[in-house]
Amino acid sequence: MSAILTLNAGSSSIKFSVYLRGEGDGGGEPEEVAVGQIDGLGPDAKLILKHDGTKAVTDLGQADHKAGLKAILDAIQPILGDNAVTGVGHRVVHGGTGHLAPAVLNDEILTELAGLEPLAPLHQPHNLAGIRAAMEAFPDAIQVGCFDTAFHRSHPFVNDTYALPRKFFEEGVRRYGFHGLSYDYVSGYVEETYPDLQDARVVIAHLGNGASMCCVKGRRSIASSMGFSAVDGLPMGTRTGQIDPSVILYLMDNHGMASKDISDLIYKQSGLLGMSGISNDMRTLLESDAESAKEAVDYFVARVKREIGALAAMGGGIDALVFTGGIGENAWQIRERVCEGLEFLGVTIDADANQARGTESIGTGPVKVLVVQTDEERVIARAVASHLG
Ligand code: AMP
Repeated sequence: MSAILTLNAGSSSIKFSVYLRGEGDGGGEPEEVAVGQIDGLGPDAKLILKHDGTKAVTDLGQADHKAGLKAILDAIQPILGDNAVTGVGHRVVHGGTGHLAPAVLNDEILTELAGLEPLAPLHQPHNLAGIRAAMEAFPDAIQVGCFDTAFHRSHPFVNDTYALPRKFFEEGVRRYGFHGLSYDYVSGYVEETYPDLQDARVVIAHLGNGASMCCVKGRRSIASSMGFSAVDGLPMGTRTGQIDPSVILYLMDNHGMASKDISDLIYKQSGLLGMSGISNDMRTLLESDAESAKEAVDYFVARVKREIGALAAMGGGIDALVFTGGIGENAWQIRERVCEGLEFLGVTIDADANQARGTESIGTGPVKVLVVQTDEERVIARAVASHLG
């Protein structure tokens, strides 16, 4: 057997999964044997490892990406045994306009990806730090980058552009869309599991702390709610979602806010957290009696409904609506409220099926309504496996 490691490096965390696969003849589908993450990179890092039904937490103290990766390596060594890591797959938030598929990483591509940092300053530099650390830690393994933007490169010009002078589009001011690995997994799963949904118009709602939606047809993205950055579209745990750009001008002119202040406001202090003043966590808001929590949830639901209508129109209709992500998979109350009043689209659900944990198909009307657990790591592991041959 050989091992594949998947990494998702953020500013203060590294999420990882370990897969094993057979040697030769394609190696077969990678089998996940461990998952984990390091939280609190910096002064107070912690490693969490889940394997074989157990969960171990180790305090690492001071650790950067490189030290974190070393700690991961040490922790997974007993699980790997004699199975060498032959491939490492990385989640990379931005692949620009050039990357339509996963790519084997080398110094030249890393330089190109570093050039995209201005397009995703909060994520791309950390993704690249993780890749560099992995190249040092696993010099003999192939490193494969899997881009969150790649899946959406198929969308048409009208869903790729803003109505700005053309030179900005040429420069790269485009609607890239994100959460592509999740849409790739979910759309593939839906097509494989439901033969009647081959080439169908599927609206996928990836509702988590980050939230976006996408209209997919034949596993290709037609349109998505996120745009130039991952702040557009739906309100999220701490991000505004769609906002009139004049609000930003107003804040600059009347509150003296600079780019960094505005970035903090729209990425970290807004969304469910900013509206409720209580929490970014949907579970906490659903349990709260506060009016502000109720209003934040109302706004979230209203924006999801609005996006379903918009994406159904872009797809020329809707054959399936799929909920995924932490909220989409677990919050039956949100699914129920989102689907309420969408009978005109053919979307109706069975209340009991919706509340029953683990029921995948909950629709009762012409539109299939599904609850699907996303698996972005598997998409990365499969990409590495296909490059290993
Ligand atoms: P993610 O970013 O995909 O991990 O999703 C995180 C979000 O899912 C948070 O807002 C959680 O509160 C929410 N979530 C997870 N489980 C539940 C649940 N049982 N009910 C409501 N929301 C949940």
